[in-house]
Amino acid sequence: MPVRSNNKTSNKSYNKLKAVEECRQRLKQLEAENNRLLDWLSFLQEGAIFDWENKKKKMKRNIPKKFRGIYDKAKNGKSRKMAIRAFCLECCSYSSKEVKLCTDEGCPLYKYRLTG
Ligand code: SF4
Repeated sequence: MPVRSNNKTSNKSYNKLKAVEECRQRLKQLEAENNRLLDWLSFLQEGAIFDWENKKKKMKRNIPKKFRGIYDKAKNGKSRKMAIRAFCLECCSYSSKEVKLCTDEGCPLYKYRLTG
């Protein structure tokens, strides 16, 4: 049986670790998405369809702390860039990396997604 070189083995290990890390990140995104959907579901079940203030509070709770400033600036009408940024971040489950990798050229915000 041929002996594997250390370099190949370490490359494989690195790739496995990278794949595991990507899976963890995707899992976090799915959990965030799941929480948002559960909030929506409970919101609808409560029959509070017109209780927008409550919905906004719940929505803000789901935004990771580091992105809440962007959301606030967008919501206060202070910055269009931040509004685009906030929308794209929500679209991509609050992953900046995913916003950069967005391939939806049909989206009206596509050309502006990296300006925020
Ligand atoms: S540009 Fe991409 S990330 Fe931004 S809202 Fe559109 S689809 Fe989502």
